[in-house]
Amino acid sequence: MNEVLIREIKEYAKQNDVPIMQDEGIEFLTNFIVKNQITTILEIGTAIGYSAIMMALTNPRIKVVSIERDEERYLEALKNVKKFGLETRITLLFKDALEVNLKEKFDLIFLDGAKGQNINFFEHFERNLENDGFIITDNIGFHGYVEKDESEIKSRNLRGLVKKIKAYIEYLKENPNYTTTFYKKGDGISVTQKKEIR
Ligand code: SAM
Repeated sequence: MNEVLIREIKEYAKQNDVPIMQDEGIEFLTNFIVKNQITTILEIGTAIGYSAIMMALTNPRIKVVSIERDEERYLEALKNVKKFGLETRITLLFKDALEVNLKEKFDLIFLDGAKGQNINFFEHFERNLENDGFIITDNIGFHGYVEKDESEIKSRNLRGLVKKIKAYIEYLKENPNYTTTFYKKGDGISVTQKKEIR
């Protein structure tokens, strides 16, 4: 792995306020990919390509399709993917994820887009999940706010967002077709799998 290039991407993210996965979260995700022999990945929320690149680097057989709706970030991600020579294994799509209709199925769908949209993303993309595949969602803890009493959250927007994340957690817990495990890693990660493996 090119440590210098990775450091540059992380530095760019910091300087430009681009939210990328925390170290503990990325470690969990990449270990999960290796352990479960994942080879096809769909990511919602590329930002500047950091997590897509980290996932692709775990194994030369891995192919990633990643969707981003912000043009500046998408263009930066294209540059970063090129720097790593991963153009043939990482396909970047510049579009709102909910307008993307894919035919392929994936071993892993990684939800890391707008945090209030997770139920929509889940329902839009579950058709693209292999029967024994996984849906992983980042920021389930949302910087500790999900565990806080709502009266402690002063900003109305933030309260609304936290409500939506809580609703997504409930949605996962109550979904009869899937089982979900929640991990306190990074900003909180959930791993969801179909109940019946046919
Ligand atoms: N996965 C990235 C990483 O760790 O390197 C970080 C992704 S960042 C947390 C979330 C990104 O999702 C933002 O760049 C945002 O523009 C994008 N996004 C949010 N909603 C989206 C949507 N509906 N379709 C496509 N991209 C979306």
